[in-house]
Amino acid sequence: MDHFLYRDGALFAEDVSVEDIAASVGTPFYLYSTATLTRHFQLFDEALAGMDHMVCYAMKAASNQAILRTLAELGAGMDVVSGGEYARARAAGVPGDRIVFSGVGKTREEIRQVLEGGIRQFNVESEPELRVISEVASSLGKTAPITVRVNPDVDAKTHAKIATGKSENKFGIPISKAREVYAEAAALPGIEVIGIDVHIGSQLTELEPYELAYRKVADLTEQLRADGHVIKRLDLGGGLGIPYTRSNEAPPLPSDYGALIKRTVGHLGCEIEIEPGRLIVGNAGILVSRVVYVKQGEGRQFLILDGAMNDLIRPAMYDAHHDIIPVIEPAPGAEQQPYDIVGPVCESGDTFARNRMMPPLRAGDLVAFRSAGAYGAVMASEYNTRPLVPEVLAKGDQFAVIRKRPDFDEIINRDTIPPWL
Ligand SMILES: *Cc1c(COP(=O)(O)O)cnc(C)c1O
Repeated sequence: MDHFLYRDGALFAEDVSVEDIAASVGTPFYLYSTATLTRHFQLFDEALAGMDHMVCYAMKAASNQAILRTLAELGAGMDVVSGGEYARARAAGVPGDRIVFSGVGKTREEIRQVLEGGIRQFNVESEPELRVISEVASSLGKTAPITVRVNPDVDAKTHAKIATGKSENKFGIPISKAREVYAEAAALPGIEVIGIDVHIGSQLTELEPYELAYRKVADLTEQLRADGHVIKRLDLGGGLGIPYTRSNEAPPLPSDYGALIKRTVGHLGCEIEIEPGRLIVGNAGILVSRVVYVKQGEGRQFLILDGAMNDLIRPAMYDAHHDIIPVIEPAPGAEQQPYDIVGPVCESGDTFARNRMMPPLRAGDLVAFRSAGAYGAVMASEYNTRPLVPEVLAKGDQFAVIRKRPDFDEIINRDTIPPWL
C-alpha cells in the first residue's frame, strides 16, 4: 500500500498535488511519501515485536538524509556499504552504535573511519578483511565487534544481478568454512565475535529461500556455540521483494517474514537484525517526468520523456518493469494505445517500456513511474550532462525539496583544467 492516489482526477502524494509540485520544482524529479516510508518501516518493526530486534534500513536503496532521518526518528538503524554512506548516516543524525557496516571491499581507511566514529558491528565478508579489521582495530587500541557473513548456497530465485547467496556469488564466506573462520576470528586481537550475518539477495518474492538460509544459520549458531563462541546477534539481511505491477500476485508480507524468523531462529535467544531496503522505500517513491514529444515511428509511437536512463537505470540494467501512469487520471474506460516510452539519452538502452498500453498522451503531459523509490535516485548519474535528478519529500499537505537540481555551472565547474591547457 502507498500514498500515491488519484484524487478528483489528478495524482496526489499524500495531500499534495503532483502537478503542483511539478510546477514548482520542474521535471523530472523523485517524490517520496513520508506516510508510506513510515508504514513500511513499522510493518517490519511490528513483524519482529516480541523479539529483541533492530531494523537496520539498507540505505543504499535511497540515501537522502531526509529519508534517513525520517526512519531514524522511528527507531531505525542503518546498514551501510561504504565510508560515504557511513558519513551520510552520521550527518543525518544516526549514532554509530546503530550502524552496521556491510560490503565485500571495505578499505583500511573506511575501517579506521568507522572504528573512530563508532560502529555497531562489521559484517565481515572474507578472511583477508577479518585480518585487516584486526590490524586496524589493534593499532587504534580498539575492539571491533564482528559477525561473519556466511553464504548459505541457496537460490534466492531472483534476477541474477541481485542474487547474492549462491556459492558462485562474491558475497560472504561459504557456510561450510564458517567454523574455521570463526576459530581464526576468535584468536585475532582487536576482534570480538558477536554473531552471524546472512543476506541472500534482493527482490525475493518467495519465503522458501529465507527458510532454507535461516535454518542453516540456526544450525550454525548451535555449532559455533558448541565450539565456544558467543553468538548473541543474528543479522538476517534484507531482500524482501515488492510488487512492481498492480496486477501480479502479492509478494510475502513482512508479517509472514517475521513469523518465519521467529519459527526458524526464535528459539536461539539472539538479538535479531534485519536490513530491508527496497521494501521500505520502493513503493514510497515515484519518478515524475514530462512528455517532451510524441513521435510517430514506423509501426510504433514513441513517447519521449524528459526523464532518462541516467535518472532511473533499473529498466536498462535489470530489465525492470515500472508501471507508468498519467498524472491526470484517464477517464474511466478511456481508449488505450501502445507506446514505446523512452528518454532523450543517446543510447538505445534508454527505453523504459515497449508497447506499453497508455491512454493518449500529448507533449507537456506528466507521467509518474511507480515503485521508483528504491535503487532509483541513488543510481542516477549526470550522463549527457543532465543535472542530477532532484528529490522531493511529501508529508501530509507539505512538501520539501530534499535535493535540489544543480544548475549547469555547478555541474561543469566540477571539472578543472590542467595548467598546460
Ligand atoms: C542491498 C542489501 C540489502 C538490502 O536489500 P533490499 O533488497 O533492498 O532489501 C541488505 N543487506 C545487504 C548486505 C545488502 O547488500
